Amino acid sequence: MSKKQLALALTCALSFSPACAIAFRDTMALPISLQQCLNSTGVAVMYPSDMNYDALSRPQNANYQPHPKVIVVPTSSEEVAASVRCVAAEKGDVKLSTRGGGHSYAAYGFSGEVVVDSSQMKGMSFDDDKKEVTVQFGQTLGPLAVAMGRKGYALPHGTCPGVGIAGHALGGGWGFTSRKWGWLLDHSKCARKCW
Ligand SMILES: Cc1cc2nc3c(=O)[nH]c(=O)nc-3n(C[C@H](O)[C@H](O)[C@H](O)COP(=O)(O)OP(=O)(O)OC[C@H]3O[C@@H](n4cnc5c(N)ncnc54)[C@H](O)[C@@H]3O)c2cc1C
Repeated sequence: MSKKQLALALTCALSFSPACAIAFRDTMALPISLQQCLNSTGVAVMYPSDMNYDALSRPQNANYQPHPKVIVVPTSSEEVAASVRCVAAEKGDVKLSTRGGGHSYAAYGFSGEVVVDSSQMKGMSFDDDKKEVTVQFGQTLGPLAVAMGRKGYALPHGTCPGVGIAGHALGGGWGFTSRKWGWLLDHSKCARKCW
């Protein structure tokens, strides 16, 4: 048992709180090896007992109330890769999913026991010579469209500003200008794999 689990166990024993007991059960359900591996990466790790967990586990479609066992909040590609490697080391016993903008109609971004959250990965940079923009997977359509528009560029994309660039591009990306320019995916040059 880790120090955090021990502290949680003591708190639950003293408080007799059902919510606390559920949080403890969830924490214990994740293999210790995985918890230790994630802790060693330096990535921010949120368990159901953590304060930010509820906000981070809320999908756009409120019909779903996902309850991942842990949410990791990376701030760099290296932290994403390290987190993915930790889950891969469990040899298929633990499922991972990625939350982009959270707009999957069926909350698929939260389908894993480990969720990689994108809220701290919203970087965006322009290469004016190549007329290319590079975005991290947490960026959403609204801010991206505005930043591109300021530079005189545009892309086909959907109508909701909160939709994530990652899920949107992976699904094609259909919008008002698609008859003329095609899908967002038609203009995507490359995606970087992080593992
Ligand atoms: C209100 C609303 C309006 C919409 N409007 C349009 C529209 O006009 N045109 C259109 O084409 N579509 C539209 N969509 C559909 C939307 O494009 C898709 O649901 C899209 O997949 C959402 O992407 P997301 O990143 O926000 O969602 P998420 O739920 O975060 O992700 C969607 C899927 O992609 C996966 N994923 C996310 N990031 C990554 C990553 N980095 N690597 C691997 N997998 C990843 C997730 O695990 C999940 O399975 C709309 C959806 C909503 C809810």
